Amino acid sequence: MNRFRLPYHLVVEEGIFGDIPECMKDVFPELRNSKTIVVTEENLKGLFGDILDEIQKDFPKSELYLIQKTDYDTAVSLAKYIAMKDIKLVIGFGGGTVLDLAKFAAFVSKTKLISLPTTLSNDSLASPVAVLGTEGKARKSFRCTIPDAIIVDVNVVKSAPDRQLLAGVGDTISKYTALYDWKLAGEKTGEAVDDFACMISHVACDSIIHGEAEELKSSAFIQRLTNALVMGGLAMEIAGCSRPSSGSEHLFCHALEENHSEQTVVAHGIATAMGSYPACIFQGRDTDMIERIIKHYGIPVKPSLNGVTEDIFVAAWQNASASRPDRYTILNETDLSTSRLKEIYARMEEIF
Ligand SMILES: [Zn+2]
Repeated sequence: MNRFRLPYHLVVEEGIFGDIPECMKDVFPELRNSKTIVVTEENLKGLFGDILDEIQKDFPKSELYLIQKTDYDTAVSLAKYIAMKDIKLVIGFGGGTVLDLAKFAAFVSKTKLISLPTTLSNDSLASPVAVLGTEGKARKSFRCTIPDAIIVDVNVVKSAPDRQLLAGVGDTISKYTALYDWKLAGEKTGEAVDDFACMISHVACDSIIHGEAEELKSSAFIQRLTNALVMGGLAMEIAGCSRPSSGSEHLFCHALEENHSEQTVVAHGIATAMGSYPACIFQGRDTDMIERIIKHYGIPVKPSLNGVTEDIFVAAWQNASASRPDRYTILNETDLSTSRLKEIYARMEEIF
C-alpha cells in the first residue's frame, strides 16, 4: 500500500487574498514567526504587488525569491539555500512553473509548502509532481509531494487570461482517456491500478464533463475547476504515480514538447485536450462527449492554430510512446499509420 499525505488546508474563496491575515489565520500559525521564503516571479510582483506586500507583512521573517530559471539545478540550489538558512516555510505564489519550482525545493529541503496559485492552467497547484528543465530543452517530471496547504482566490484566478483557464479545463478532461489507458495497462501488463485513486480522478473529470454547463469565468465554475484539479493531484498522490491523470494524450503532449517546441506554441492543458480527442478514437470510444465539452468552452485544440502541422501531428503520435517507453497505453496496440493520423488531423481541423 502506498503512503501518502493530504494537504492540511484547502480554501477556495472569492477575494480571500484581499485580507491576508484573515486568509492565513489558521494556516500553520506556529510557523508565523519562522523564517519563510516567498517564491514568485518578477511580472507577478508587478501585477500582485499589494498581495505580496501583505504576505510579507504577515510573515515578518520572510524574504522574496524571484525565479529566473525553472530548471532542476535552480530548484536544487533553492532547496540548498532553504536548508542552509533554516527556512521553515515555503510559499509559492504564481502559475505552474513557480509552483513546480517551489514544490520541488520544499520537498528536497523537507519544508512545509503553501501553494497560492494565480492561474489554474494545469494541476500543478496540487499535484505531487514538479516539471523542471533538465539538459537542453528537455523537461522532466520529478516526483515530490503535494503542498501542505492550497489556498485559491477565485478573483485572482479569474483575472488570468481565458487561455490559461481553458488549459486547466483541457488538463482535467484529459483524465477521461488517461483512466482508460491505466485500466488497459492493468489488464494487459498486470500494472497495479489503485481503485480509490481511479474513483477520485473519475469524479474530478466527470465534474467538468457532466457538470452543469457554466460560463468559464463564473465563480461556480472556477470553484468546480479548482476542486477538480485538486482532486487530480490527490489521486496522483494516492496512486504514487501520475497514471490517474496521464495517459496516451499526455504522451502526445510530451512528444510535442520534446521534439517540436520550436515550431509549436501550445500550453500543456491545451496539448493534452488536443491529444484526448484522437486518444478517444484509438480507444474505440465515442468522441461526442469530449467534442461537446471542447466546443462548449472553446478550448483551442485545432492543431494548426497551435502551430501543429499535419507532419508534426503525425510525428508526435508516432513518437509518443517513446517519450515514456515504460508506460503501456492504447498506443501500444492501435494503428498509428500515417494515413489514419492524417485522416484524424483533417477531421480535427474541420470540426474545431
Ligand atoms: Zn497534465
